[in-house]
Amino acid sequence: MVGADGLWSRARGLLSTDRPITDTYVAYRGALPMGEITVPVEPDDEIIWIGPNKHLVQYPIRRGELYNQVAVFRSTRYTPELEPTDDWGGPTELDAAFAGSCEQVRTSITMFNRDRRWVMYDREPLADWTRGRVTLLGDAAHPMVQYLAQGACQALEDAECLARHLAKHAGDIDEAFAGYQAERIPRTALVQHVARGWGQVWHDDGEVVPALRDRVFGRRATDDYTDPDWLYQPVTS
Ligand SMILES: Cc1cc2nc3c(=O)[nH]c(=O)nc-3n(C[C@H](O)[C@H](O)[C@H](O)COP(=O)(O)OP(=O)(O)OC[C@H]3O[C@@H](n4cnc5c(N)ncnc54)[C@H](O)[C@@H]3O)c2cc1C
Repeated sequence: MVGADGLWSRARGLLSTDRPITDTYVAYRGALPMGEITVPVEPDDEIIWIGPNKHLVQYPIRRGELYNQVAVFRSTRYTPELEPTDDWGGPTELDAAFAGSCEQVRTSITMFNRDRRWVMYDREPLADWTRGRVTLLGDAAHPMVQYLAQGACQALEDAECLARHLAKHAGDIDEAFAGYQAERIPRTALVQHVARGWGQVWHDDGEVVPALRDRVFGRRATDDYTDPDWLYQPVTS
């Protein structure tokens, strides 16, 4: 059995008693027809507005037909007691979080879908995600906060790797699952941890980290995408 049942995986419950952890951030999404966008946009643009306890990402998708937007902020109402409810991270908090932003960001925030929010969750990496004939894949195995935009990417890599090991160890599920998790756990655990750190650097509301961050980012050419190169090296078999 391959448990690919997402963040709240029941299959994971067969091998771990852990539960998702929130960093108390919430995301709203607002994909728009490109015709509604009034600012000039290039097909390869990825714009990230960063501020204390918040960020806004904007980029074209679907061959430039849609403009995808994701706004993320730390809830000021969050408490562990409220966590299972919808009474925190609501649209009022969304507006308040971005109220002090520049006009372009504030205008963008008015164009978001307010019907649904996504709470940011991850879990600590597992040292072992296989028991007998049960293994995990995707968010069930390694949910991560979405700041590196890697959750679905890592799930796809899992699928390729699992298929490769099943072919290599034809008929021996134990060997295939062992090879699969030996290859995938170190990489996905790294991505889980770096995603957290990436968010902390973006959202920091102190003085030192934003100063260093802005200095590093300010020296980078706007078309320089080498920072995440380590994510896109060929996966070894
Ligand atoms: C706001 C936001 C933005 C994101 N942006 C990106 C991005 O840009 N790039 C990226 O790579 N990732 C991104 N992600 C992460 C990505 O959405 C997930 O990592 C990905 O969907 C995980 O895929 P999955 O198949 O493992 O789990 P899921 O997509 O959650 O699928 C699990 C499936 O299992 C089903 N299921 C659950 N329980 C059971 C059960 N008991 N029985 C049967 N079926 C069950 C569910 O209905 C669901 O269909 C983002 C996430 C969020 C919240």
